[in-house]
Amino acid sequence: MDIFSVTVLGSGAALPTANRNLSGQLVVIANQYLLIDCGEGTQIQLRKNKISIQRIDHVFISHLHGDHFYGLIGLLSTMHLLGRTKPIHIYAHEGLKKTIEVQLEVSYSKLSYQLNFHNLKNESGVVLVENKHFCVESIKLKHSIPCSGFLIREVEKPRNILKEAIEKYNIPVKDRAGIKKGEDFQTSAGTVIKNEEITRDPAKIRSFAYCSDTAYSERILENIAGVNLLYHEATFMEDKKARAKETYHSTAAQAAEIAKKAEVAQLLLGHFSARYKKMDLFLNEAKAVFENVRLAEDGIEYIIE
Ligand SMILES: [Zn+2]
Ligand SMILES: [Zn+2]
Repeated sequence: MDIFSVTVLGSGAALPTANRNLSGQLVVIANQYLLIDCGEGTQIQLRKNKISIQRIDHVFISHLHGDHFYGLIGLLSTMHLLGRTKPIHIYAHEGLKKTIEVQLEVSYSKLSYQLNFHNLKNESGVVLVENKHFCVESIKLKHSIPCSGFLIREVEKPRNILKEAIEKYNIPVKDRAGIKKGEDFQTSAGTVIKNEEITRDPAKIRSFAYCSDTAYSERILENIAGVNLLYHEATFMEDKKARAKETYHSTAAQAAEIAKKAEVAQLLLGHFSARYKKMDLFLNEAKAVFENVRLAEDGIEYIIE
């Protein structure tokens, strides 16, 4: 089974600290690299974690608050300096294209590769990338400006035909595609062999959802139901619940409530306000609501299984 993982490049909110960079995550799926958010310093985090930046072909920017995209022009520029020729796809809300183009223009820069901008709509369920291995869909979040989360899900795989069954029943190649889809097999003598006798289940579909930045929003439950890993922002704790509401952010307990209601397998909290020093309090607050929770740390790769 291919690795499906998320490396957290930045788990801090608004301003960087000595231990936490601004938002950025590298998702590896089906041997492809996807970057979600690109706060200032993201390219340094990529380098520190020995991640090849030229392998990134898709960049998803959740929203246009600076802590989620101020690192993009630097990253794009480095890709150019390293001689990139492969095009890159950037998914963001309206305005990013203009910003990047102005920065390139005033610095008299012409990139050695093509930028393909895709405007995000402020709605859920829009398919942004789809191939035979995985798909990426938007999730409408509740923030002070248009903001999208992302659901990355593997595509359902065909059933596996047992080697022994192929030999035993002499299954012709022409019948195998149907069997992989779940059809029974009929021998030349007319005997019907049930599909479950000659196949085994494919590997389970794995999924990851990124929800940052957002206030508590039950609207997202249907999009993230049952995911293997949910990254949900927890800028504050319950002591600042009113502040969280005012600024369209969540508390650790609220993120845990969403995880519980969506019945996800594991919750990863991040986007922590720099005001907090005792991080185990975040964990305790969330754990009181939802047991399987971890705090995001910069430079850690979380495996989705
Ligand atoms: Zn933010
Ligand atoms: Zn924001």
